[in-house]
Amino acid sequence: MDIFEPCYTYHEPDLVKAAGVYPFFRPIQSSDGPYVTVNGKQAVMLGSNNYLGLTHHPEVLKAAHDALDRYGTGCTGSRFLNGNLDIHETLERELATFLGKPGALVFSSGFLANVGSVGLLGSAPDAVLFMANENHASLIDGARMARSRRMRVFEDAKDLERQLQKGHDWSHALVLTDGVFSMTGRVADLKSLVALKKKYGFKLYVDDAHGLGVLGRQGRGAADEQGVMADVDVLFGTFSKSFASLGGFVVAEAPIINYLRHKTRTFIFSAALPPASTAAALEALRVMQRDEHLYTKLWANVKFFREGVEALGYNTLGSTTPIIPLWVGSETQCLRICKEALDLGLFATPALYPAVPPGHAVVRTSVTPAHDQVHLQKALDVLAEITKKYPVPTVDPATVPPARAMDLEQELAVLMAELAAKSAAGA
Ligand code: PMP
Repeated sequence: MDIFEPCYTYHEPDLVKAAGVYPFFRPIQSSDGPYVTVNGKQAVMLGSNNYLGLTHHPEVLKAAHDALDRYGTGCTGSRFLNGNLDIHETLERELATFLGKPGALVFSSGFLANVGSVGLLGSAPDAVLFMANENHASLIDGARMARSRRMRVFEDAKDLERQLQKGHDWSHALVLTDGVFSMTGRVADLKSLVALKKKYGFKLYVDDAHGLGVLGRQGRGAADEQGVMADVDVLFGTFSKSFASLGGFVVAEAPIINYLRHKTRTFIFSAALPPASTAAALEALRVMQRDEHLYTKLWANVKFFREGVEALGYNTLGSTTPIIPLWVGSETQCLRICKEALDLGLFATPALYPAVPPGHAVVRTSVTPAHDQVHLQKALDVLAEITKKYPVPTVDPATVPPARAMDLEQELAVLMAELAAKSAAGA
């Protein structure tokens, strides 16, 4: 087969575009935080991961500007050789102190941090990796890169224990979990995992991309909130969400950081995080610790918006974080709702299979302290308007079995057939 054959025969996005509901790559022409402009029209932004709204914070902006003036636009090389800035090291020191770990390592993106770190740690002799089933793609790809071929998936602590009972010393195993699962806002039960760790001796790696900056004391994350930070061996975070920037990091004990710093291929063979991004993340970390008001406003907004959508009838899947999913079920309906929402002035994103189980599509929303109730009320008004056309499903999602597992292409083919049938029926 021609190596480019899969490219030439890939038409699914065109079909979804033809159906008028293509939800990806919407070009944002400008942003002030709570609002974005798309297609020349203003929309309330509930589709970001800007959980603390710091992308437009005056002090974060100033720190980024100052760093541009002092260091220029880029590092043009790896930290290993010629791109290591003093502010990379300041950021590492402050992250380590903030999270109560001896060392930290800053990477150019969270994806690179996870792929590189898991890939390297999972290459130790005899390594076994246990992966929570909703984990982020970067952890899964890290496990694929690891020399160990032994990766197992677990559903929850109970399922993990069933698998661990087959041995007694698991010090060669790394258990990997997200702290907050990104599509549903569900918080991982880290306490139960730590109880198992104490019994079976494995090591624990937590990706808290969506918990850091949000949960725990001054945003120290899901492990801090559950009182188990000391038992997390490697804690991962990204700067692309609450930290309002780009980049990723891990914190851990000093020998682990030293090993990763000298051996991780995605760190050594990739250019350093640019100055403005580094300075913005550093300032965001400082703002988080000095501005308690951010959290008061965030949680007031979360409460207001969650109660608002629940009053409209939406099931939010028990989320207790700023990620507020609106369960829709049908992928088709979800795409239509997101399209209609943007037309009416609300930017929200669809979460479809494989990001969620098939037949469990959600409209993913998230609120920030940069929103005022005016913005959130506008969003609720848009959703109220939409429910007139697309009634909120009354079924309890917990009783809906995941539809047959399909790959994305099949899923889109089914979606297209569904849309064609509906338009033939004049729906
Ligand atoms: N882990 C999780 C749970 C994420 O959601 C993401 C980004 N969506 C990443 C890792 C990767 O982070 P980054 O955006 O910094 O590459």
